[in-house]
Amino acid sequence: AAPMTAFSGKLTINLDAIAANWRLIQSRLAAGARAGAVVKADAYGLGVQEVAPALYRAGCRDFFVANLAEALLVRSLLAGDAQVIVLSGCAPREESEFVRNGIVPVITSATMAERWLGVKGASKCGAVLKVNSGMGRLGLEPNEFESLLMHPNFANAGFFMLMSHLACADQFDHPLNAAQLQRFERMRQAFLKKVPAATASLANSSGIFISPSFHYDVARPGVALYGGNPLQRRQNPMRKVVDLRLPVLQVRHLASGEAVGYGASFITQRPSVLLTLAGGYADGLFRSAAAGGVVYLGEKPLPIVGRVSMDSIVVDATDVPQAAMPAEGNMLELLGDNVGVDDLAAAAGTIGYEILTSLGGRYRREYI
Ligand code: PLP
Repeated sequence: AAPMTAFSGKLTINLDAIAANWRLIQSRLAAGARAGAVVKADAYGLGVQEVAPALYRAGCRDFFVANLAEALLVRSLLAGDAQVIVLSGCAPREESEFVRNGIVPVITSATMAERWLGVKGASKCGAVLKVNSGMGRLGLEPNEFESLLMHPNFANAGFFMLMSHLACADQFDHPLNAAQLQRFERMRQAFLKKVPAATASLANSSGIFISPSFHYDVARPGVALYGGNPLQRRQNPMRKVVDLRLPVLQVRHLASGEAVGYGASFITQRPSVLLTLAGGYADGLFRSAAAGGVVYLGEKPLPIVGRVSMDSIVVDATDVPQAAMPAEGNMLELLGDNVGVDDLAAAAGTIGYEILTSLGGRYRREYI
């Protein structure tokens, strides 16, 4: 870990809340379905070394990562009854490393399938087959899927699960959801004829909340486990996971008409008290957050003024009573009781996923 100073912000990650979020999703699933967990990208930036074992203790056994490097790390953290599944699949010449480590690839193209079918030990290792049902990113096209089912060595692949991914799950009414479900269901029926015991997986966090018909056997929630809202424009049912506080570097008194920050984009309109806080765009505080972003001093929102710098932001504390004025070193809330990840994302014109995965390595982290 990077050395920390008093001028580091403090990032508190609530593992109990992550476990509770996983249990909440599990409790919402249709009978017979189970919740996995997407822990790629260092568990969406929150620290896979801590997050994956906490999810395992909560009962999760299906862990989805992006690539082999992430898989090897997660594999080393968990007991043998956990399954580690690699969403981007298996690169050429890495097949034997999957087999050797018992890591399950998602086969995402016809050429990848062709290679995997020839691998010794593939059937014992097992694999997930991904089909394109409308996302248009990864997965076999329906005609490629049909050819693969006819392949003489099909059984050698050890396919035990059929999977696809939803493009518009966060818009419950989007017509593509029903279309994807229908295409996926058709392919699943064909798959079951070849692999009668096969399972299926379709839903991400939002997909779980569209309707139980999307649940199938294994759901793949990611962002909802980390406190992101899986429901569009409705109250977030998930527990908050992240609390982020930034220390005051300086309390600064400026006369009216003085400029603040790069580009002198903010000019004080009155004699002002400004707080310079440690934390900038290198710490996941997007420059675009300056417009609507606020930092909380207790219950009081203080607007970000001027531009976000690499290592600092400035907030306007002029309206804070003198007795409540923070001093150097005091911590103010950027994410926590008052501001959720989705709120900060909205201020920055982005999505919670991007905020979480951009938090970076400069905070003092505490896991509770
Ligand atoms: N499944 C796949 C294939 C993904 O790529 C992802 C993440 O992007 C997820 C599931 C989890 O999505 P979410 O974080 O929206 O739950």
